[in-house]
Amino acid sequence: MGHLLVAGGAGYIGANFVKYLLDHTDDHVTVVDNLSTGRHEAVKALENRFGSRFTFLLSDLGNAEKLHSFLHKNPVDGVFHFGAFSLVGESQYDPLKYYYNNVAQTLALLKTVVEHEIRYFIFSSSAAVYGIPEKIPVKEDALSRPINHYGKTKAMTEEILAALSGREDFVYASLRYFNVAGTDEELLTGECHDPETHLIPIAVKTAMGKRDHMALFGTDYETRDGTAVRDYIHVTDLCEAHWAAFKKIRKSGDPLIVNLGSARGYSVKEVLETVKDVTGKDFKIIEEGRRPGDPPVLIASSEKAKTELGWTAKRSLEEMIVTSWEWEKKNRK
Ligand code: UDP
Repeated sequence: MGHLLVAGGAGYIGANFVKYLLDHTDDHVTVVDNLSTGRHEAVKALENRFGSRFTFLLSDLGNAEKLHSFLHKNPVDGVFHFGAFSLVGESQYDPLKYYYNNVAQTLALLKTVVEHEIRYFIFSSSAAVYGIPEKIPVKEDALSRPINHYGKTKAMTEEILAALSGREDFVYASLRYFNVAGTDEELLTGECHDPETHLIPIAVKTAMGKRDHMALFGTDYETRDGTAVRDYIHVTDLCEAHWAAFKKIRKSGDPLIVNLGSARGYSVKEVLETVKDVTGKDFKIIEEGRRPGDPPVLIASSEKAKTELGWTAKRSLEEMIVTSWEWEKKNRK
């Protein structure tokens, strides 16, 4: 039995991954999270379900003193780092918040990781590092040219990780997520951002009547129906890829940068139609101008994930929407 540390494990993706680890391994899992965007309910749900195999440490990721005292007594085999602010719009009007949390806190966490000789580090990166890619589907060797501060914090962290990759005692994987949606089938923990800015949760909330309408940003893109195209990936597929990446770098000892997407694009209109079909609810959509900072099309090449990890996304857009809808119903109040 091993021990894994999940930084930011009380957030949407982190908590789904903790559940995945506890369901699929014998390892003990410790979450470190300051609950700034993570949810106490997620921690409670994991505690109730997994009992003594799960530990929660309330702390900033950069609180070296707290982490040192924990890690001295509880050595860990690897760190999965999900802890970041992730709202593109917010990063544009409050860049300091993003550089401080996503870069400075990660740097402090990495210092602790290296001091404790924790060899394996899995980082949640983003397709936002590509900015507006020249070629679609986008491959991992495309230029990193982020167009917003959120994407820049991810690109900067990747540079810091690359600088550490010469060390014998440190191996990392940087996983560039495309558009993550859905939740685990048991609905133990799910998506809950405040404010919510993502397409699928907003559409599902509108279908439920929690909003009386929603906006569709941009109908004049050069795409098949004029709306922006994205590559959606089910959070459970993403969790499987994290575990595969951990096993891969443990075996190879080599750093890895890989896209996590489905290699399939859906337009905003197609997603909204699917939400209407799946939920059986019609709702009001108001067409607006483009949202600043939105690239027209982002679709992953998933070739590298297939070759390096033996992984491909299996779950459909419908499955993402169904679980998102069920989660929303569960949390109706
Ligand atoms: N979008 C929209 N209405 C919304 C939220 C999002 O039309 O209320 C669009 C957004 O402009 C983008 C796509 O849906 O073209 C996906 O946006 P999301 O925020 O979910 O993910 P992003 O691709 O920005 O990470």
